[in-house]
Amino acid sequence: MIVVMRTNATEEQIERVAERLKQVGLGVHLSRGEFRTIIGAIGDDKKVREMGLEALPFVEQVLPISKPFKLVSREFREEDSVFTVGDCAIGGKQIVLMAGPCAVESEEQLLEAAYGVKAAGAHILRGGAFKPRTSPYSFQGLEKEGLKLLARMREKTGLPVVTEVLDRHAVDLVAEYADILQVGARNMQNFQLLRELGKLDKPVLLKRGMSATIEEWLMAAEYIVSGGNSQVILCERGIRTFETYTRNTLDLSAVPIIKHLTHLPVIVDPSHGTGSWRWVPAMSRAAIAAGADGIMVEVHPYPEKALCDGAQSLTLENFALLCRELEDVAAVLGRSLRKVMS
Ligand code: PEP
Ligand code: MN
Repeated sequence: MIVVMRTNATEEQIERVAERLKQVGLGVHLSRGEFRTIIGAIGDDKKVREMGLEALPFVEQVLPISKPFKLVSREFREEDSVFTVGDCAIGGKQIVLMAGPCAVESEEQLLEAAYGVKAAGAHILRGGAFKPRTSPYSFQGLEKEGLKLLARMREKTGLPVVTEVLDRHAVDLVAEYADILQVGARNMQNFQLLRELGKLDKPVLLKRGMSATIEEWLMAAEYIVSGGNSQVILCERGIRTFETYTRNTLDLSAVPIIKHLTHLPVIVDPSHGTGSWRWVPAMSRAAIAAGADGIMVEVHPYPEKALCDGAQSLTLENFALLCRELEDVAAVLGRSLRKVMS
């Protein structure tokens, strides 16, 4: 249920309602909007109905949330959620560009990639230190050494870093080095990992599972948010269909649907979505046109030498070209690639 407070409700009145809800054993989550505060009461709806909160003069309405996902739904929070990472805002007017190699391979490779993507216009550096590979014989990542290299690149370039965490036991380690923790497609329903990330005070980039419905994806986000961490960025990265021409089928229809259903920011990863660098620029433009808050693309200074996903990695030159194109697409939509603080 949600308790919608009157626009002029004071802090003390909000606190009074929250306390009463807690007293009957309900979970309480506050959503402070520009004009009013909404209190999410998680637990037995019947208990909330029986409390008669609507009799209080500072309570506007008590309503059920019809969706299975509660705290991430637009019903709980009407306005878009905006998080700041470093000096950029994710989910607002700014389009966020996350770029970098699939995997951190060496200091030289990451240095060239980091300075290259920054010069082209990227706001956040990506790079996998722990790689979830289909084959146990493939390169598994530099692990802790990779995390250290990412942190060093942040120091050098000023770009915040996003990297994947594969295991709940590694959450603290990855959080020590990363600005955004990524949950990969293969882990979208690793509920123990999601619960651990719910305890963090850092943004989580939650990729859509390769065979996950939109509802399952949002329920995964609900795990993190209900644990206390509301900073979740959703990332569409393609789903499995009968089509084999592309690595996955990039479901761009998910973007406006996600925007409709939830207040969380959504970005698109056209690299894993298509599996080929050739289709990445067109799908990036389309993602922004569809309303995505940003993109995450794989970029490698020498894609032909990449230890992982070279075929879908853009060269630095092609990434720079793409950034210029995206500036034009963003402008049409009244958005911008320039950093805008929320
Ligand atoms: C990645 O972004 O490095 C990755 C492994 O992607 P996904 O989880 O979408 O396959
Ligand atoms: Mn990859």
